[in-house]
Amino acid sequence: MNYQTVIGLEIHAELLTRSKVFCSCSAEFGGEENTRVCPRCSGAPGSLPLFNRGAAELAVKAGLALNCKINNFSAFDRKNYFYPDLPKAYQITQFFSPICSDGYVNISTKKIRINRIHIEEDAGKLIHDDVKKISLADYNRCGVPLIEIVTEPDIRSAEEAKEFTAAVALALKYAGVCDARMEQGSLRCDVNISIMPEGSEVFGTRTEIKNLNSLRSIGRAIEYEYSRQKALLEKGERVIQQTLHWDDATGVTTALRSKEEAHDYRYFPEPDIPPMFITDEEISAIAATLPEMPESRKVRYSNQGLADADATLLIADKALADFYDEALKGYNNPKSVATMIIVELLRRMNDSGLSAEELAVLPADFAELCKMADDGTVSRGAAKDILKQMLETLKKPMDIAAENGMIMSNDSSEVETAVDKILAANPKAVEEFKGGSTKVFGFLMGQTCRTLGKSANPAIIKKILEEKLMK
Ligand SMILES: [Zn+2]
Repeated sequence: MNYQTVIGLEIHAELLTRSKVFCSCSAEFGGEENTRVCPRCSGAPGSLPLFNRGAAELAVKAGLALNCKINNFSAFDRKNYFYPDLPKAYQITQFFSPICSDGYVNISTKKIRINRIHIEEDAGKLIHDDVKKISLADYNRCGVPLIEIVTEPDIRSAEEAKEFTAAVALALKYAGVCDARMEQGSLRCDVNISIMPEGSEVFGTRTEIKNLNSLRSIGRAIEYEYSRQKALLEKGERVIQQTLHWDDATGVTTALRSKEEAHDYRYFPEPDIPPMFITDEEISAIAATLPEMPESRKVRYSNQGLADADATLLIADKALADFYDEALKGYNNPKSVATMIIVELLRRMNDSGLSAEELAVLPADFAELCKMADDGTVSRGAAKDILKQMLETLKKPMDIAAENGMIMSNDSSEVETAVDKILAANPKAVEEFKGGSTKVFGFLMGQTCRTLGKSANPAIIKKILEEKLMK
């Protein structure tokens, strides 16, 4: 029997606030263990949380970037559970009234609905020492603000899950909400997965795979879990609802615990933080600070005539897309500018390990270079050399071209003189050409180019050489 996979995701994204969500400890990644901890984030009795309003602003930005409704009223709740990574023994989250709801993200195949986005605090980190057989706790991450983005069960394959996660990560980066560094855990994903016979409308029993921190792991874990559940059903056994851990090294999921239901967490309203009100005016003011989002940028680039792959490549890096937009202001030829970025600039950036943010070449100078190559001021080959020197010296393209004698001579009388000289010096080749051997043409071209040096304009030489030989 064929089975259909049904997937819902919960994406945890750390917010780019400087301090933690309920205290003033630094929220920065890393640091020596347990040095960014205070009575508030370690849950000392009598300490009271103080809400960091900056976290709400970023959560609203995330909601807007992911097409959500922003709720004017939201409130915090306590989620009670006992685990060594959580010294308070409860997590402050938004269970009953989240800050955002009813959003969506378009992927290439469909629209994936977002049920809600809520704010919560991150837990600490446990470090398991397999040799000494002990576990150590680092509470630096305790209280770092997170948003949790919860989808509807609209995803049907590993590919869709990966595409959705990548699209969310990109939108959050554009919005300045989260740096989405999956390898550092600032964006991680829980996958809820079940399977049902193809054509069925009734979802099977789901399992939850926790804390996947790369697109590759998401894909592999989904494919493994699909096969595991299918094998169980085919043997006539049941899938047990439980929480699973994915091991990237062994490529299998193992059971962490049987799945809790909401009532296991004994949610109740957080008594120490007042509910949060955000006015429509405040929401509009935040919306006005958002840049153009990747999806609409891609549509705009396609309308400019860029190929789908090129548009996708440009929007994948906001700094690069910004550079492209700025360069167009200097030379409005989208295809030419995009091609020069993708073929030449990206290659050089990759070679030197330069990121688009670190790029010091001015977009206006880059635009000038594209124009010079297009209008024949310099040859295509020379343009590549000029770009290399621009990256190294930040000089203007025209100055580099002039200093290196790269400005092409479009003066045909100079070319004619040179061609005449070459033809006179190579009577045998001319004879062969007239006798039908066209392969000597390349030889004569080469000779003329060499005589004229870097300023040779191949198109003009070819034209004049042809005219003279055909006489
Ligand atoms: Zn603290």
